Amino acid sequence: MPPTIEETLAGYQDAARATAIYPGQGNNAGLLYVTLGLAGESGEFANKLKKVLRDGPTVDTQEDLVAEPGDVLWYVASAASELGVSLADVAELNLDKLRGRFEAGTLRGSGDDR
Ligand SMILES: [Mg+2]
Repeated sequence: MPPTIEETLAGYQDAARATAIYPGQGNNAGLLYVTLGLAGESGEFANKLKKVLRDGPTVDTQEDLVAEPGDVLWYVASAASELGVSLADVAELNLDKLRGRFEAGTLRGSGDDR
């Protein structure tokens, strides 16, 4: 039987934790560190895509772009760890929110409380 999504995400989160070396792990400094990392990697992804828009794709474009969401994912998993929750719970909460908005017809628009 293939692993569940929860098992896959738990395995990823554990693997991310095993490669985590940064100051303040387990306290607010660790959460701050991974939050800054998440913002930085999100910016790297946006910047690489910006350059594709400016200069056009190269033979390395796909590989370059695909690497960045992985960096983002590592920081998301680490943020979940710092918050003391599972990556699977983070994913499920997000999907529950989006399904609720889909069913309510409020996927479009803005605001956290749709
Ligand atoms: Mg990166």
